[in-house]
Amino acid sequence: MNPADCRILVVDDHALQRLLLVRMLGALPVAEVAEAGNGDDALAQISDAAAPFDLVITDLDMPGMDGMELARRIAALTLPPPVALVSALDSRILASVGNLSRAAGGALQSILPKPVSVDALREAISRIGQPRPASVALPGFSDAELAEGLAAGEFQPWFEPQIELGSGEIVGFEALVRWHHPTLGVLAPFRFIEQIERDPALIATLTDSVLRQSLAALTHWQAAGYCGSLSVNLSPLVLAEIDFANRLCAIVAEYGIAAETLILELTESAAANGSAAIENITRLRMRGFRLSIDDFGTGYSSLQQLSRLPLTELKIDRSFTSRMREDPVSRAAIESSLHLAQRLSLRSCGEGIETAEQVRELRWMGCLVGQGYLFTRPIPGEQLLDWLAHWPTRRGTLIEEWRAD
Ligand code: C2E
Ligand code: MG
Ligand code: MG
Repeated sequence: MNPADCRILVVDDHALQRLLLVRMLGALPVAEVAEAGNGDDALAQISDAAAPFDLVITDLDMPGMDGMELARRIAALTLPPPVALVSALDSRILASVGNLSRAAGGALQSILPKPVSVDALREAISRIGQPRPASVALPGFSDAELAEGLAAGEFQPWFEPQIELGSGEIVGFEALVRWHHPTLGVLAPFRFIEQIERDPALIATLTDSVLRQSLAALTHWQAAGYCGSLSVNLSPLVLAEIDFANRLCAIVAEYGIAAETLILELTESAAANGSAAIENITRLRMRGFRLSIDDFGTGYSSLQQLSRLPLTELKIDRSFTSRMREDPVSRAAIESSLHLAQRLSLRSCGEGIETAEQVRELRWMGCLVGQGYLFTRPIPGEQLLDWLAHWPTRRGTLIEEWRAD
């Protein structure tokens, strides 16, 4: 969304703190800033507003309803605005508040340490409209609606490039599903994937469909000279289906694609998912597919479980990338993940790169490959060759930026 159109609600029991925030927001191109002195007033303003708020910035520590409770109650509204929590607490405590509030409803968008800077506010505003966690209370879909959409071919992969951070070369693309909904427009996975993943038949259909469309696109790109990889996301549920590896091999063979070209992204819970999953994973690796552990560090698997998987790549979750600058715990998580990747000879891939500074830091810490909005938002398949043709020019500018001191 255009920041100049956005409406922000500032919630703080201290009038002076509120005034400071309102002043800082006044220096940014936003449409309107409203104020509330407590959580009840904030909820009333959100419900009564003629036009919805695009962001609520609230203090964490308030008498009565504190910022966490307010975030939880906002999450329970239909179409809740994102919430940014402001606090003077130590960043480690803040990280746990972040996890808590995400678990409690997912309206939380960012945490702003006190004293709040104009840059931090600008960043929080720039995140408005980006996908938030699956638990946000948005209107759901029935299984029948999802099945109909799948049957009608409304679920299509978009593609996000993966860049070798040393050279700026494109080394691969990750397929990310989008639902081209007939009335609601293009929907990102957080609106539907959790529900699809609850039903083995639905997730099997979605996986096959995304895979077939991605392979068809890949044959087209290869004919035009592309020689990188293609990554696809696999849900733990499809891996638990005993015949999955054989089915996947048959599909890939139909399109005449070499197994080595495909990178199958698993989540940490795949490792803990029983013997069928381990059998599938091992068989796929034996057939030559590459295997990546997605969102590394966000699950609950032990190193022992992970060491049972014949992995070739480790992906650093974007939550760590986005917080590494201000949060030493995220930075430490990245450093130890990269160390582990090196020791196990895995390729490392950093997700969610949005700034040249993040590229510089990740490279410095030893990360080989990266992806994120800095390079581009996910691209519809039919626009990909065009985007690739323009990459060499864009690459030159970006490399200069991330190599600059
Ligand atoms: P993921 O595999 O970890 O994918 C990365 C997600 O991060 C994508 O969200 C991508 O658009 C987003 N992203 C990439 N760069 C940036 C960035 O710089 N900043 C921010 N804020 N976000 C960035 P998306 O497409 O919404 O996908 C979310 C998740 O949905 C994926 O996470 C994956 O777990 C799941 N998913 C997507 N496609 C499929 C699929 O075909 N099958 C299955 N089973 N799951 C899928
Ligand atoms: Mg992925
Ligand atoms: Mg990921």
